[in-house]
Amino acid sequence: MSNEDCLFCKIARGEIPSKKIYEDEELFAFYDINPHAPVHFLIIPKRHITSLAETTSEDSALLGKMLSLARKLALDLGCRNGFRVVINTGRDGGQEVPHLHVHVLGGPRPWKQA
Ligand code: 5GP
Ligand code: ZN
Repeated sequence: MSNEDCLFCKIARGEIPSKKIYEDEELFAFYDINPHAPVHFLIIPKRHITSLAETTSEDSALLGKMLSLARKLALDLGCRNGFRVVINTGRDGGQEVPHLHVHVLGGPRPWKQA
């Protein structure tokens, strides 16, 4: 799949609308369209990377930024009692959208596991 056709590349470019939470030069965060928890958002790199399996050591800083942003936004959005960070990777990992994304889930339980 080319970046032109990638759903999350289109969301990062603003070509498909989303409920944006955060954006900088490298990252974009937006609410999941089908939330599994009271707070459920996604963090993606603007650059197309298919999955965590396709990252290299050169992506370490980017991956660190994604985790730091997960923490910051989760706390900003009120997940004071904890939150869950998930990266589904590849077919056996249950990944449906082939553009690297971090799920962040939180808010009062009960909620179904993503
Ligand atoms: P995966 O299973 O690939 O880890 O998760 C993909 C996530 O993207 C799912 O939780 C799904 O609800 C979400 N998603 C799929 N299409 C869209 C969309 O067009 N907009 C938004 N905001 N989320 C989407
Ligand atoms: Zn993409």
